[in-house]
Amino acid sequence: MAETKYRRVLLKISGEALCAAGATGIDGREVQRLAEEVKLVADLGVQVCLVVGGGNLVRGSVIAKDSPIEESTGHYMGMLATVVNALAVQDTLESLSVPTRVQSALAVDTVCEPFIRRRAIRHLEKGRVVIFASGTGNPFVTTDTGAALRASEVRADVLLKATKVDGVYSADPVTDPTATRIERLTYNEVIDRRLGIMDVSAIDLCQRSGVPIIVLDLKKPGNMRAVVLGEGVGTLIDAG
Ligand code: UDP
Repeated sequence: MAETKYRRVLLKISGEALCAAGATGIDGREVQRLAEEVKLVADLGVQVCLVVGGGNLVRGSVIAKDSPIEESTGHYMGMLATVVNALAVQDTLESLSVPTRVQSALAVDTVCEPFIRRRAIRHLEKGRVVIFASGTGNPFVTTDTGAALRASEVRADVLLKATKVDGVYSADPVTDPTATRIERLTYNEVIDRRLGIMDVSAIDLCQRSGVPIIVLDLKKPGNMRAVVLGEGVGTLIDAG
């Protein structure tokens, strides 16, 4: 088996990774593509956990705007949307013979387990991919903070933040052809320069827990596997 750089990784995927570009909802082909990338890493013998977002279905602050829906309710709706996404990812991974468990921070006991840290670690040790749903279980934050929290709790070696580009750029690479990829940043640089890669609370928590973050492109086939082998392209965020 190939020598990997990390033993236990947490992958944060946004809800938009589960739908076609510019669309909303869930597109089975996109979920399949994602599952294939996760399988490539799991097949290396690396322990993998996922935090899935819900922005393809509900964003709490957006749905509550100009509506009688209270903002807190909107956020709970967003968290429930992550459970919907988690179930889609679970069945798709299992169709590829990857064993999984979903654990939710909100109680939805008929469809998945509650989040229990020690049990999650046990699943990981047994080679199951653990999908964490419902973010932190609390409103007014996002699943980025949920990812930092779970990565800290299960002592992940790295938090892989999947995006549409292969790292952090000096400017928006879509609109600025002179934009260059930044190889490495410190947590403080990300916070001070307000780079907006993840919530400040997520960066701060990773800094305090010593969990490095790698921003990577999940759409590029094999890239996540390569990153886990220490070969792939992305931007590393750590203490420097
Ligand atoms: N959310 C929340 N608490 C959490 C995680 C998520 O209230 O701990 C809500 C929030 O309203 C958020 C929505 O769930 O907008 C969907 O999550 P997120 O925006 O992080 O999804 P992503 O952008 O990753 O798809």
